[in-house]
Amino acid sequence: MNLIFLGPPGAGKGTQAKKLVQLLGIPQISTGDILRAKKEEDSPLGRQIREIMAEGKLVPDEIVVEIVKERLSQPDCEKGFILDGFPRTIPQAEALDEVLKEMGRKIDAVVYIEVPEEELIKRISGRRVCEKCGEEYHVIFKPPKVEGVCDKCGGRLIQREDDKEEVVRKRIEVYNNSTAPLIEYYEERGLLKRIDGVASMEEVFARIKKALGIN
Ligand code: AMP
Repeated sequence: MNLIFLGPPGAGKGTQAKKLVQLLGIPQISTGDILRAKKEEDSPLGRQIREIMAEGKLVPDEIVVEIVKERLSQPDCEKGFILDGFPRTIPQAEALDEVLKEMGRKIDAVVYIEVPEEELIKRISGRRVCEKCGEEYHVIFKPPKVEGVCDKCGGRLIQREDDKEEVVRKRIEVYNNSTAPLIEYYEERGLLKRIDGVASMEEVFARIKKALGIN
């Protein structure tokens, strides 16, 4: 299955995509994760990405499209893939259509997770991540056993720079302006599956499986 997960920051795309990865055995391609790794590189590109992400803005389409194109050509994507956080603009969606056409493939469904704005701010501001292994937590919804310490590896839990409130507000504004038009783009193509994302993690996952016809 070739899938896209669409929705505002904090809707739970990453969390739900990871659950589906376990079930279907296809890779999750998170452009956010790939870019977070790239921004650590000591290069002009690394620096450029660092500055853009710190402000909650979007990395230029050409850079992200190139990353995704390269990733999709790897053998583990042959059985299918879950794109998480890509596309984020209409030009990215058009470029993806082109890339997939060249590969003789297509998107099967777009899972759109809907969550109201006030709920998003609440969710993101409580998010924490292990600086060592990347495991994700939430101070209210998924607290670690010991405050500030990763259950899995004992690493320190930190807040992502772009999860701070001012940056989150900017990311939501960018989503509304640049990414929300994709809802109509995929609806017109008959691919959109709308999922109400305000429920427990398990319940949202059940809704996604039902929408995709997975038991
Ligand atoms: P995420 O982890 O998906 O919330 O992404 C974190 C940040 O990475 C975003 O705020 C953007 O700065 C950048 N980013 C991730 N995916 C894309 C994309 N498809 N296009 C442009 N920028 C992106």
